[in-house]
Amino acid sequence: MAEINKDDCFVVKGKLALPYQYFAGRMGSRFIIALRDRKKITGVRCERCDRVFVPPRQTCEGCQGDLSEAWVDLDDTGTVTGFTVIRYKEPHQPCEPPYILALVQLDGADTPLVHIVRGIEPEAMEVGLRVKAVFADQTTSTIMDISHFAPA
Ligand SMILES: [Zn+2]
Repeated sequence: MAEINKDDCFVVKGKLALPYQYFAGRMGSRFIIALRDRKKITGVRCERCDRVFVPPRQTCEGCQGDLSEAWVDLDDTGTVTGFTVIRYKEPHQPCEPPYILALVQLDGADTPLVHIVRGIEPEAMEVGLRVKAVFADQTTSTIMDISHFAPA
């Protein structure tokens, strides 16, 4: 067997753009359909734990209860609980950088939703900012049916 001369080996670094698709699932599909058809952000409520989850999940993380029929409509207003500023460009991004990606805890929800915040300069952005959902004019049947959140 021939020896491998490591001086002949080299590493090529690169990145792949990898298109993919996946089934949003029963809960994710209903969430998207409510956004698309009613312009409503929905979640699920665990009565036992007194918690509302957005985005919705089938099982309560506290008591493992089935939440698949425990739907509630949420307000389209909320509070930023964390954020980052995206300053680099990648092909999969939803918009041109720089933009703000934030954790938005909707009023009445106990978990945050990740989305884009526009209408405020990154330097002025802060945790605690009150925001309101702005729905897209054209549906894409994705989370981007919420175009972004804007200062309320
Ligand atoms: Zn629970």
